[in-house]
Amino acid sequence: MATLFGKVISREIPADIVYEDDQCLAFRDINPQAPTHVLLIPKKEIPRLVDATSADQALLGHMMVAAGTIARQLGAGDAFRLVVNNGAQAGQSVFHLHMHILGGRGFTWPPG
Ligand code: AMP
Repeated sequence: MATLFGKVISREIPADIVYEDDQCLAFRDINPQAPTHVLLIPKKEIPRLVDATSADQALLGHMMVAAGTIARQLGAGDAFRLVVNNGAQAGQSVFHLHMHILGGRGFTWPPG
Protein backbone atom coordinates (compact mmCIF):
# COMPACT_ATOMS: atom_id res chain seq x y z
CA MET A 1 0.00 0.00 0.00
CA ALA A 2 1.30 3.45 -0.92
CA THR A 3 2.46 5.69 1.88
CA LEU A 4 1.29 9.28 2.22
CA PHE A 5 4.21 10.42 0.07
CA GLY A 6 3.48 7.73 -2.52
CA LYS A 7 0.07 9.36 -2.82
CA VAL A 8 1.69 12.76 -3.28
CA ILE A 9 3.70 11.29 -6.18
CA SER A 10 0.53 9.84 -7.77
CA ARG A 11 -1.32 13.12 -7.11
CA GLU A 12 -3.93 11.36 -4.94
CA ILE A 13 -2.99 13.85 -2.19
CA PRO A 14 -2.47 17.52 -3.09
CA ALA A 15 0.87 19.13 -2.31
CA ASP A 16 2.63 22.40 -3.00
CA ILE A 17 5.20 20.97 -5.42
CA VAL A 18 8.29 23.13 -5.93
CA TYR A 19 10.47 20.76 -7.98
CA GLU A 20 10.09 17.59 -10.00
CA ASP A 21 12.22 15.53 -12.34
CA ASP A 22 12.21 11.93 -13.50
CA GLN A 23 13.67 10.62 -10.22
CA CYS A 24 12.44 12.84 -7.42
CA LEU A 25 9.84 15.32 -6.25
CA ALA A 26 9.94 18.17 -3.72
CA PHE A 27 7.02 19.83 -1.99
CA ARG A 28 6.48 22.19 0.94
CA ASP A 29 6.10 20.59 4.37
CA ILE A 30 2.56 20.94 5.72
CA ASN A 31 3.94 21.86 9.17
CA PRO A 32 6.97 24.04 8.37
CA GLN A 33 9.76 24.32 10.93
CA ALA A 34 11.51 27.16 9.06
CA PRO A 35 10.50 29.85 6.55
CA THR A 36 11.66 27.43 3.86
CA HIS A 37 10.82 23.79 4.63
CA VAL A 38 10.62 21.42 1.71
CA LEU A 39 10.55 17.63 1.59
CA LEU A 40 12.55 15.99 -1.19
CA ILE A 41 11.52 12.40 -1.96
CA PRO A 42 12.62 9.78 -4.46
CA LYS A 43 9.89 8.50 -6.78
CA LYS A 44 11.18 5.02 -5.98
CA GLU A 45 9.67 3.69 -2.76
CA ILE A 46 12.48 3.33 -0.23
CA PRO A 47 11.10 3.28 3.33
CA ARG A 48 14.19 4.49 5.22
CA LEU A 49 17.70 5.60 4.30
CA VAL A 50 19.01 2.36 5.81
CA ASP A 51 16.91 0.41 3.28
CA ALA A 52 18.77 1.98 0.37
CA THR A 53 21.32 -0.25 -1.36
CA SER A 54 24.25 0.26 -3.68
CA ALA A 55 21.68 0.14 -6.51
CA ASP A 56 20.35 3.45 -5.15
CA GLN A 57 23.71 5.20 -5.09
CA ALA A 58 23.13 7.29 -8.22
CA LEU A 59 19.59 8.18 -7.09
CA LEU A 60 20.82 9.42 -3.69
CA GLY A 61 23.60 11.43 -5.30
CA HIS A 62 21.06 12.89 -7.71
CA MET A 63 18.90 13.94 -4.75
CA MET A 64 21.80 15.65 -3.00
CA VAL A 65 22.49 17.73 -6.08
CA ALA A 66 18.75 18.42 -6.49
CA ALA A 67 18.59 19.56 -2.84
CA GLY A 68 21.19 22.24 -3.56
CA THR A 69 19.36 23.30 -6.71
CA ILE A 70 16.05 23.55 -4.83
CA ALA A 71 17.57 25.48 -1.91
CA ARG A 72 19.13 27.93 -4.35
CA GLN A 73 15.86 28.30 -6.28
CA LEU A 74 14.02 29.09 -3.04
CA GLY A 75 16.57 31.71 -2.01
CA ALA A 76 18.20 29.59 0.70
CA GLY A 77 21.28 28.48 -1.21
CA ASP A 78 23.79 30.10 1.14
CA ALA A 79 22.46 28.65 4.41
CA PHE A 80 20.24 25.63 4.66
CA ARG A 81 20.11 22.37 6.55
CA LEU A 82 19.41 18.91 5.12
CA VAL A 83 17.87 16.41 7.54
CA VAL A 84 17.05 12.73 7.08
CA ASN A 85 15.26 11.12 10.01
CA ASN A 86 15.82 7.35 9.88
CA GLY A 87 13.46 5.31 12.06
CA ALA A 88 10.72 6.29 14.51
CA GLN A 89 13.15 6.94 17.36
CA ALA A 90 14.99 9.44 15.19
CA GLY A 91 11.73 11.23 14.42
CA GLN A 92 10.70 9.54 11.17
CA SER A 93 6.91 9.50 10.87
CA VAL A 94 6.42 8.81 7.15
CA PHE A 95 8.14 5.68 5.89
CA HIS A 96 9.03 6.86 2.42
CA LEU A 97 12.60 8.20 2.43
CA HIS A 98 12.69 11.99 2.48
CA MET A 99 15.17 14.79 2.95
CA HIS A 100 14.03 17.86 4.84
CA ILE A 101 15.46 21.03 3.27
CA LEU A 102 15.26 23.78 5.89
CA GLY A 103 16.28 27.38 5.35
CA GLY A 104 15.46 31.01 5.92
CA ARG A 105 16.54 31.16 9.57
CA GLY A 106 19.56 30.39 11.72
CA PHE A 107 20.15 26.87 13.10
CA THR A 108 21.87 25.69 16.23
CA TRP A 109 24.08 22.67 16.80
CA PRO A 110 23.70 20.00 18.10
CA PRO A 111 20.15 19.39 16.87
CA GLY A 112 17.59 18.18 19.41
P1 AMP B 1 9.50 12.86 9.32
O1 AMP B 1 8.97 13.14 10.69
O2 AMP B 1 10.98 13.05 9.17
O3 AMP B 1 9.03 11.51 8.83
O4 AMP B 1 8.86 13.96 8.37
C1 AMP B 1 7.58 13.86 7.87
C2 AMP B 1 7.15 15.26 7.51
O5 AMP B 1 6.04 15.16 6.65
C3 AMP B 1 6.73 16.13 8.69
O6 AMP B 1 7.58 17.27 8.75
C4 AMP B 1 5.29 16.49 8.35
O7 AMP B 1 4.97 17.81 8.72
C5 AMP B 1 5.25 16.28 6.86
N1 AMP B 1 3.95 15.99 6.28
C6 AMP B 1 3.04 15.08 6.72
N2 AMP B 1 1.99 15.03 5.89
C7 AMP B 1 2.24 15.94 4.90
C8 AMP B 1 1.53 16.34 3.73
N3 AMP B 1 0.33 15.83 3.40
N4 AMP B 1 2.09 17.30 2.95
C9 AMP B 1 3.28 17.83 3.27
N5 AMP B 1 4.01 17.47 4.33
C10 AMP B 1 3.49 16.53 5.15
